[in-house]
Amino acid sequence: MTYSPKSVSSYNARREPPPTAGLPLQLSDWLPASAYLESALAEFIGVGEALVSCSGTAALVAALEALMARAPERLDVIVPAYTCPLVPLAIAHCGLTTVLCDIEPETFNFDLDALERLCGANTLAVIPTHYGGRVSAVLPAVEIAHAAGAWVIEDAAQSLGAKIDGCSVGLAGDIGFFSLAVGKGLTLFEGGVLVSKTPALLAECRARLFHQYHPPHWRQRLRGYVWDWQRTFELLAYTVVYRPALLRWVYARPVRKALAHNDLIDAAGDDFSRDIPLHRVGSIRKTIGYHALKRLPQWLHQLRQQGQERYHRLLQLEGIHVYGDHLQQTMAEAIATTEASTHTEIQAEGAWPFIMILMPSNKARDWLIERSWGAGLGTSLMFVHAMPDYEAYRDIIADAAPNDFPGAREIASRMVVISNSPWMTDVRFEALCSLIRKAISVTKAS
Ligand SMILES: *Cc1c(COP(=O)(O)O)cnc(C)c1O
Repeated sequence: MTYSPKSVSSYNARREPPPTAGLPLQLSDWLPASAYLESALAEFIGVGEALVSCSGTAALVAALEALMARAPERLDVIVPAYTCPLVPLAIAHCGLTTVLCDIEPETFNFDLDALERLCGANTLAVIPTHYGGRVSAVLPAVEIAHAAGAWVIEDAAQSLGAKIDGCSVGLAGDIGFFSLAVGKGLTLFEGGVLVSKTPALLAECRARLFHQYHPPHWRQRLRGYVWDWQRTFELLAYTVVYRPALLRWVYARPVRKALAHNDLIDAAGDDFSRDIPLHRVGSIRKTIGYHALKRLPQWLHQLRQQGQERYHRLLQLEGIHVYGDHLQQTMAEAIATTEASTHTEIQAEGAWPFIMILMPSNKARDWLIERSWGAGLGTSLMFVHAMPDYEAYRDIIADAAPNDFPGAREIASRMVVISNSPWMTDVRFEALCSLIRKAISVTKAS
């Protein structure tokens, strides 16, 4: 892949839209607050209690540790073969084994036959995942996992605010977690949220997170304070530079540099450290999150309108698949068959940090990405590879044959994500639509 964004220049490429629609912060968010982030998050999500961790990964570690205490003999955790590398890293951190399961390209749902084969007496947990604010089917995975005596941890890292049938994602399994990392909507620069409807599991997770906040050794505690201060400064920097005129310096330039070196993994931010920081989140960052959360419903509403409009616009481009909220029939069917209820229609109301599309081929995808990523058109890749195809994570992922995980590899080879930031203007969006059309016709002809 050779990177040549200069070939598109009919709009102002200097004002780079961010790859995702992160909620901007205001200086007034740094003023004291009269209530707690945890209780505001609990209310927003619709649960009695929400726990705040230093990252989504840290929440996952706490969830896995809580389950390990219940079934120490179970050592496998089943995850989608296309996911954030931090998920297998968290599993490895806990001394557990990642087992990959294929997913369906157009819905991200688990291949249920494969899941059924993989789930057994050694399975500790299954991790269905919601991608980019879209809602995946969790209940079929719950049924299969529970039948095998395993638990379900719902990875809603990218989907805070997404709802199914009026109820937040993250609550259909045994434990759910969200990410408050930069770029994932509401942010503490790094942070996470953990929820569970099962009081005993929640108590166990709370104890694990207490341990992360207050490690036994003073040196670890000190390191925790240093981490939190670093994140607080990073959050201050985010407050200041997260605006269109400055993003080209902090986002676009590093991305272009990585792409010029053909380093897609660096450009996508997929190069994660093995060392998972586990520490406290201080009250300054929580206060900022508390203030910003008050603006989140309005922000999500605005993004949903723009996202749905553009979703329909993209549907007019022939040859691509666009991920929307209407694909939830599978979930509606699952609910109808597992519960003898009177559910007739399940309404998904996703969050729209970005819009995901599948190009018709890997060739068309690469053609588009080569000309658009970092060039002010709002495109990027979510995860560069399916999990078995990252050189850097070979040691924690079992070898896969070339024709294993066809669904996950299909997604990795054809997917493009399009920023749904309000700074992704109509002019940019239309320029991108033309380029998508061109990518399809040029690569079809050759
Ligand atoms: C970002 C992400 C995570 C990890 O969340 P962090 O807050 O970055 O640790 C886990 N799963 C998915 C699908 C993600 O996108």
